[in-house]
Amino acid sequence: MSQINKPATRSRTNSLTHPTENSDKCGSCNKSVLDNDKGVQCEICQLWFHSKCQKIPDCLYNTLIECNTPTDHIVHWYCDRCNGVAKTLVTNLSQLSIRQDKLESEFQSASKDIVTIKNDIEENRATTSLINTSSIQSQNDIKGLTSDIVSMNDKIKYIISEPDEIEKRKSSIIIKGIPETPDEDIPRKVKQVLDVIKVEDNPKFSRRLGEPREDKRSRPIRVIFEKEASKFEVLTKAKTLRDTPSDDLTFNPAVTFIAPDLTKLQREREYNKRVDRRRNRDDPRRRPIIQDRPGTPNQD
Ligand SMILES: [Zn+2]
Ligand SMILES: [Zn+2]
Repeated sequence: MSQINKPATRSRTNSLTHPTENSDKCGSCNKSVLDNDKGVQCEICQLWFHSKCQKIPDCLYNTLIECNTPTDHIVHWYCDRCNGVAKTLVTNLSQLSIRQDKLESEFQSASKDIVTIKNDIEENRATTSLINTSSIQSQNDIKGLTSDIVSMNDKIKYIISEPDEIEKRKSSIIIKGIPETPDEDIPRKVKQVLDVIKVEDNPKFSRRLGEPREDKRSRPIRVIFEKEASKFEVLTKAKTLRDTPSDDLTFNPAVTFIAPDLTKLQREREYNKRVDRRRNRDDPRRRPIIQDRPGTPNQD
């Protein structure tokens, strides 16, 4: 089979050339589309049709012939069936394209969100670690503060009770270095010390301080006099102990010390004074400070 009718020879190959052997039947009426018939090929299904079977007006048929060349498809034609499919296809495609655009923009904004979330997480992580660090710091600060408050509380208790404590010790002394023996007669031992330093007043009361020691070292003895003057007399004469020979004595005068009965705060003050004195002695840049003689009564 060669060319179809004259207009077809001028038309584009796909739509208006002669049908091939297998597809020369009209897609509508199933009769052959002959050379001298006005025949049109569908661009989609590739079937041939009589133009009258597809109700193509002559003016449109002529336009198809005139406008299309074998290489240039200006006017497209689809059979009724393909046109319907094509319409749906085009609609769907355009919807698909809209949806794709929408998805793309959603994806882009999701990507941005992910980046933002990532940054937020990083920031949170940094903040969390900062909070953890400062929380640990705060906990330590609070611990330190608590222990400061506890020790301050203790100090305040001492300070408040200090006048009473001083009053209680007003006429008492402490004797250290008297050997401790089972079932000892403490007043007798004290009397012996007082005899050595030539103090005649008898104490009102005397006893060992604290619980017995595991290392068997002798505990100090607190001696309480009736009169405050007796305390001063003992403290003044205490230094004569050193020169006393130990013959016939139950104690060794060389290692026996008589000291004022100080409160905890007074002892602390004495200790600090000793530390200062030592520091001044060791540091030649410091000027010597005149201090109370250790062991003298507190004259505040
Ligand atoms: Zn037909
Ligand atoms: Zn078709």
